[in-house]
Amino acid sequence: MVVLLVPSTNPLTSLRRVLSLNLVALVAYGVLAGLSLTLAGGDALVPGIWFPSGLMVAFALRSGPTVLPGLWLGASLVGALSSPGSLGLHAALGLATCLEPMAVLLLAPRLMRSRDPLESLHDFAGFYSAAAIGVALSVGAIGLLQPAGPYALLSFILHLAGVLSLTPLLLALPEPGDRAGLQRLVAELRRPDWWALLLAITLSTLLINGGFVPTLSLSPLALLFPLLLVAGFRFSPAAATGLNLLAAMLQTWFPFIGSEALPTSGDLLLRSFMGRLFCGMLVMVQMVLVTNQQHRRMRAGLEQQARRLEEVVAARTQDLTVANARLELLSHQDTLTGIPNRRGFQRTFAAEWQRALRHQLPLTVGMLDVDHFKAYNDHYGHPAGDRCLERIAAVLAASLGRPGELIARYGGEEFVVLLPGLPLEAVGPLGERFRSSIHGLALTHARGGSEGVVTISLGLATAVPRDGITPEELLAAADTLLYRAKDEGRNRVCLASLPL
Ligand code: GH3
Ligand code: MG
Ligand code: MG
Repeated sequence: MVVLLVPSTNPLTSLRRVLSLNLVALVAYGVLAGLSLTLAGGDALVPGIWFPSGLMVAFALRSGPTVLPGLWLGASLVGALSSPGSLGLHAALGLATCLEPMAVLLLAPRLMRSRDPLESLHDFAGFYSAAAIGVALSVGAIGLLQPAGPYALLSFILHLAGVLSLTPLLLALPEPGDRAGLQRLVAELRRPDWWALLLAITLSTLLINGGFVPTLSLSPLALLFPLLLVAGFRFSPAAATGLNLLAAMLQTWFPFIGSEALPTSGDLLLRSFMGRLFCGMLVMVQMVLVTNQQHRRMRAGLEQQARRLEEVVAARTQDLTVANARLELLSHQDTLTGIPNRRGFQRTFAAEWQRALRHQLPLTVGMLDVDHFKAYNDHYGHPAGDRCLERIAAVLAASLGRPGELIARYGGEEFVVLLPGLPLEAVGPLGERFRSSIHGLALTHARGGSEGVVTISLGLATAVPRDGITPEELLAAADTLLYRAKDEGRNRVCLASLPL
């Protein structure tokens, strides 16, 4: 995973941070310069790799221009310690060296879409173009101060090779304090196939370089190349660029230290040819990395899409559950009066019947019917009839309150009431309360018989559920008692225990 830091917009906000950053840059420059010079046999102008070059570009991209003083100081000090010349000259040479990261800083925003060279082919090409221009400027300026003659081109290659091999690796490393990034890197390094590959590279290099295959004059890079290809496809950019760096170091080391297998390694032409070949290979490997990176991004994109889809499905399922619950509620509710409908009554009736059966308690079912309601409709109209039904339902519902008690609209102007746990003696007064509360509403009914107001008739049947009695029989008994109340003159309550 490549992590890049956008340069701080106000570098002076944290002087300590800037100072420590510059100190790290200075020390790192010195260490890498030492490594490069050691690998090149102490001669800075032999075709190896100038690692500080890659360091400067990576530092500049990650931390912005604030890190330039540290890099300049590093370059000046390394020059002063490793080659003759006045301090002033080395300070000027250090400045010329810094033209490279400065040019990359200026050009990268114009030539790259992101700040990540492995983000896309466009970024990749933009990054290396910026680096090549920066290196050319830097080498040109150094050449003006300290003419390098035929070595100038070589110097260009050394510097560019440094950027090619080191910068992507450094950019791939997690930021200081990025614990998650560090954990990802550690997890990557724990993979056994990574170490197997490393071992294969090391062994193949040792085999040839150690003289076990003395007649073979093949560069170990020839063996490394396919392995690097595999690395590019198989591993994350961090691991693959790590291998890349290793290959670079081996390449530098091989012609100058393990020279047995390459008899003409002292020849500058061959060395520079090797350097160019190496650069070309690095570019190809980086291409592979880009492809790999793009694959990973595509896969991550697909995974994200799948996650989003799952979220949408979960949200829809949740909506559906809520809608279903609402539908369930609505399907048991009467639309006109808002009290439970016949289906709602049947559900509660079945449950209360079972409870009464279990505990051997009485259960009462009442059938209520509005008297002369057809005449009411005919006289006052259906909308008025509806309002009348709403008021009756509201009054009846308000008369109930004990757990398990229920009033439901059974159909038309008929209501059904459920009264669990009451003995017949207690049911009677309750029925009378229903009747009188409707009578007490005093809803004028010009054609409602002698009363002149809306009244109801009520049949109440009570039973202790036991074998031989069914809920349907209890309901039918209530209906029969309702008709008895109608027959006896309406506006009255008829009640009885089962069997009738
Ligand atoms: P009884 O005293 O014998 O019960 O006479 P009734 O006229 O009330 O009985 P009947 O069964 O002849 O008439 C019932 C009327 O109830 C017929 C219908 O117009 C009316 N009705 C049924 N459902 C509704 C409703 O939802 N709204 C209105 N406004 N009227 C309804
Ligand atoms: Mg009726
Ligand atoms: Mg009626």
